[in-house]
Amino acid sequence: MDETFDPEMDDLLEVEQKKQELLSNSFFTGMRVVFLGTASQKPSSIRNVSAIALQLEKQTWLFDCGEGTSKQIVLSPHASFSKLNKIFITHMHGDHVYGLPTVILTSRGRLADKRSGETLSVYGPPGVRSFVNSALFYTHTSIGKSIDIKELLTQKSIKSPLTDQQKKNDIQPDSNGVYTLFSDASFTVKAKYINHTVPCFGYVIEEAPGKPNVDVEKAKALGLEAPNVLFKELKAGNSVTLSNGTVIKPEDILIPAPRPRKIVILGDTNNPYSLTDIAQGADLVIHEATLPNEFENIAHYRGHSSPRMAGLFAKAIGAKKLAITHFGGAYANELEAVETVLLNQAKEAFQSNEVIAARDFLAVDIPKPC
Ligand SMILES: [Zn+2]
Ligand SMILES: [Zn+2]
Repeated sequence: MDETFDPEMDDLLEVEQKKQELLSNSFFTGMRVVFLGTASQKPSSIRNVSAIALQLEKQTWLFDCGEGTSKQIVLSPHASFSKLNKIFITHMHGDHVYGLPTVILTSRGRLADKRSGETLSVYGPPGVRSFVNSALFYTHTSIGKSIDIKELLTQKSIKSPLTDQQKKNDIQPDSNGVYTLFSDASFTVKAKYINHTVPCFGYVIEEAPGKPNVDVEKAKALGLEAPNVLFKELKAGNSVTLSNGTVIKPEDILIPAPRPRKIVILGDTNNPYSLTDIAQGADLVIHEATLPNEFENIAHYRGHSSPRMAGLFAKAIGAKKLAITHFGGAYANELEAVETVLLNQAKEAFQSNEVIAARDFLAVDIPKPC
């Protein structure tokens, strides 16, 4: 590839810059889910294959990456390449991974030069490393060391002796089968094995607990002007005594931290109940609903779900909202039927109207808890 001049990539830089402006100007809750592909197995005229972007304040994450995902990112006003720093793969079926090499190349190409050289992390089942490395190697593509691939080791791969690379890079589950991918000042991402026809994961993304804030008016009324060195003590949970003898307890002036938000993104599945413990109380659960209730037996046999199954799982984990996606058969070509028939089937099982039927480019903001 000629690295000296690439007019097309320069166009992309312009598009990306406009998206960043849009993001900073528009109302943004800090967590926005963008559906980039909502068809099962193959693209239809109105839906691409699986991919979901999670747009955060300072980063973009991608969950699955079917063929054509790069173009979907370019077309979506809500998903951005320039902040893409993490990709999570649920399972290695082609409709969830064939777009990976292109997304990696586009993200790590000239766009990366404009950034700090930050690493792109890819998490996924065993095989994802070989898949990406082979695709890049056989297409004579060099992206340097800007990508870090971490495999979630399954029982089968753990039994065999681990290679040095596995020991260094990869992630093993704890005794409850929970994989903690990372936990930083902003988010914790965990995963658990869910049932499909091949090794498959469901991901749980949770905000880090916030810190309580000082109610400046209340503080002032008690004789504490802002800013004040004593705020630190109170935030740490300690009472303070003023020179006039007044004792102020943390609960007198602190506003509790908002509840951390949680999103659950499942891969293809006919049984994700292993995830019930870590998925509890999710603000949003994204669950496949490949075939309608009438074909539930076939869906189940093929490792998939019906809207009813999705609704029951959302209810079991006490989710606040459910989004169904990954529509197969005739429904891959439908908007109206999906958004009436399948939507109602899911609502009935969930016993809630808080259900969305995904369509390509739909953006869903996760509201900040009060
Ligand atoms: Zn699929
Ligand atoms: Zn699959």
